[in-house]
Parts: sequence; structure tokens; C-alpha cells
Amino acid sequence: MPTIEERDLRRIWHPCAQMKDYEELPPMVIDHAKGPWLCDVHGKSYLDIVSSWWANLLGHSNEKINAHIKAQLDRLEHVIFANFSHRGAIELAERLTALVPEGLTKFHFNDNGSSAVEAALKMSFQYCQQTGRTKKIRFMCLSESYHGETIGALSVGSMDLFAEMYKPMMMDNIHIEAPDCYRCPYGETRGTCSCACFEHAERAFAAHGHETAAMIVEPLLQGSAGMRIYPEEYLRKLRALCDAYDVLLIADEIATGFGRTGRLFACERAGITPDLMCLSKGLTGGYMPMSITVVKEKIYEAFYADWSEGKAFMHSHTYAGNPLGCSAALAVLDILDEENILERAEETASWLTARMTETFGAHPNVGEIRHIGLIHAVELVEDREAKRPFDPSRRLGYAIYRRALRHGLLLRPLGDVLYFNPPLNIGRDDLNTAIAQMKASMDEVLGVQ
Ligand SMILES: *Cc1c(COP(=O)(O)O)cnc(C)c1O
Repeated sequence: MPTIEERDLRRIWHPCAQMKDYEELPPMVIDHAKGPWLCDVHGKSYLDIVSSWWANLLGHSNEKINAHIKAQLDRLEHVIFANFSHRGAIELAERLTALVPEGLTKFHFNDNGSSAVEAALKMSFQYCQQTGRTKKIRFMCLSESYHGETIGALSVGSMDLFAEMYKPMMMDNIHIEAPDCYRCPYGETRGTCSCACFEHAERAFAAHGHETAAMIVEPLLQGSAGMRIYPEEYLRKLRALCDAYDVLLIADEIATGFGRTGRLFACERAGITPDLMCLSKGLTGGYMPMSITVVKEKIYEAFYADWSEGKAFMHSHTYAGNPLGCSAALAVLDILDEENILERAEETASWLTARMTETFGAHPNVGEIRHIGLIHAVELVEDREAKRPFDPSRRLGYAIYRRALRHGLLLRPLGDVLYFNPPLNIGRDDLNTAIAQMKASMDEVLGVQ
């Protein structure tokens, strides 16, 4: 009899992995979950400190979200969203209007983050074509950025090892050198910086603004880049630069939205309104694949015409506006409100910052501990003074990841950056457990300090 893990590997091609690695690290087959805890089919528990790829906002098997979905399930599971609609989507769009940055008024539903990004890129392009800006056919993005895995989304992302392969298939976009606050080439320090690195954006806009439809950005936090955090001022300057060159600003809030940065949206922290905003992940509490591209009225209006003019946005996904996803999202909004989630998360976050600093701050291989909202990242380096990274071929982060799994911690690092991005309602006991497990795993791989 094959084991359940062997049955998995016989048939399943897992995402984002060299499948040969699974020979040494077979999949953990999860049976059930509660709060931040996963339990596998053998009864072993794992603390999900990365919210299952940053999506699980309020814990697994959250009673209120479960109840909402169950009630919705017996009424309507799905309906075509062209010409047809349903109460959940309408109510969700109405409630979000009051919560998103002011001026975003129209909601285009899709079924995953990458397709929300694709929709935003296509809308921006078509908006320019339909408003006489016909030379604006390119896009700008920051280097090291991540906006999803489809070809369009990859084209505005970091040209890393994995994306490089597809380069011949991609659009020719303009990649602006991103802020790198930990290793600031201008010698500035966090908190007091004047965004000297913004000169890269200024130069790119001067050279290419006239041919650019939109600039896409992960506001304040470049997640996949290793939880790189940059100042609000950078975002405000970018908003002004986009206005000066008549370039649309797309905020990809898929990772930052719904309280991850301490406010409901990262753009709110910077006090800016983008022209288009992409939402997913936390939107449904990590329950259902759903996304929304929210846009300003002026974008919507550029598509509104008689059918014969051919201006419609002809983009659809089968599961757009799925009622179960909407019911989960409505439950999330209820909980954020009823349980004061953001205020409580902020208290937990300052406590966590102190605990992380106390535990890891003096470690000779900890280059920086950076944080925004409840997200806390620890960047490991070989030489703390020189900020010299470890040789990537050592796969140190991966070795710590495997150790952590043995201890019962799902700590999936980004290269050598270890991070917590837990559900916003996680308790201090669970965080203490995670810190102890992370410390033990680091000690086993790096030696006891
Ligand atoms: C996860 C993510 C995406 C892609 O979303 P998928 O649902 O995985 O396609 C895009 N942008 C950001 C910032 C993300 O974190």
C-alpha cells in the first residue's frame, strides 16, 4: 500500500517547486486547521506563521466566516456574472466603496490576484487608446517587484531566475530601480531619509513617461522581494510624478490590503489614491479565490459608450463575482469591524517588535529586523557589518525552513529572509511559540549564539 504522501507525488505537480526536492521533503498532507494551526493526517501540528501564502487573514476555520459561507451555500453557489448579479457582490462593492481610498468607485471582479493585475494593465492600456493617448502603450514597474505569474503580470515583475526563462514572451516594460532601504546606496537611514533613490523614477519618467500608460507598484512593501519596506514619502512622490506625466498609477494591494500594513490599505498610510487598485488574498480571509480591480470613475467612463463604438472592456473569468467568495469577504469586513481587529493587531505588533528584537537583535547573522503592521522580517547575512549575504547556493533559508517544519512551524522564507505574516488575530502565546521554534531552528543551522 502506498502512503498518502506517495499517492500525492505520483500524481500531483506542486506549485513553485523543484519536484525533485520532494524526494527529501515529502508534502505535509493537512487534514484540518483551526486559527493559525494546521494539523496533518498523522496528527502533527504546524503553526502557520505565513498565513498560507499571506492569504489567511483571520485564522483557519473561522466560525463567523464558516457560518456566512454555509448560509450562502444553501442559497446560491454561483451564477454567471454577465447580465446577472446577486446581493453579495452588490453589498460588498457598496461597503468597500466606503473603505478604499476616496475616489475609487467602480469594482471589476475576477478570481485571483494575477488576473486582477492583468485586468488593471489591460484597462490602463485601453483607457489610453480610448482617450486619445495612443502613444502610451508601455508600463513601468519597480525592479524586485511581484505582481503575479501570468505573462502580463510577470512582465511587470522582477526579472529573477524564474521569470528570466519567459523573457522572449514578455512585454517590453520599463523597470525602475526599487528603493533598497537596508542596503541604501545613498547611505540614508530609515525614518530620516529624503528618498534620494527617487531619482531613478524621475529619470525613467523623463525618458519614457510620454509612452507609458501606467506604473504598477506594491505600496510600501515589496513582499516577494524579501519583505522590503520603503517610505510613504516615496509613494507620495510617485503619485505626483504620475500626475505630472499623465501616467496612471496602479496600486497592487493584493498582499498589503486588509490590514497587513497596520491600516486597511497601504495607500491610506501614504494618503494617496491610486487610479486603479488590485485586491485579493485577505479579501476573502484566504477562503476563496476572488479578486477585484477597483478603479476611478474616469477610467470607467472611458469605456462607457454605445456598443457600436467598440469601447467595452471585454474581459471575463468564469468565476468572477463568485457568491461564496463575496459571502466570505462580507464576513471578513464584519469581523474587522466587530472585533476591532486592526487596533488589536497594532498592539500585538508593537509587542512583537520588542520580542523579536530581544530574541534576534544581537544575533551576529541577523542583518536587519524590519516590520510593518504585524509583518516582521529577519534578514540573515554572513557579515553583519558589511551586510554581506550568504552564498545563495547554500540555501540557508531553505535549511532553516526544513528545521522549522520539524519543530512544527510553517516558516517559509524568501531566500534568506525569515518572516512572520500571521493572521491579524493571532495571540501572544502562539507568537511566543513561533519565536521559540524559529530560534531553535536557527541555532541548529547556524550554531548556537
Ligand atoms: C500574491 C500576489 C499576487 C498574485 O496573486 P495570485 O492570486 O497568486 O495570482 C499579485 N501581487 C501581489 C503583490 C501578491 O502578493
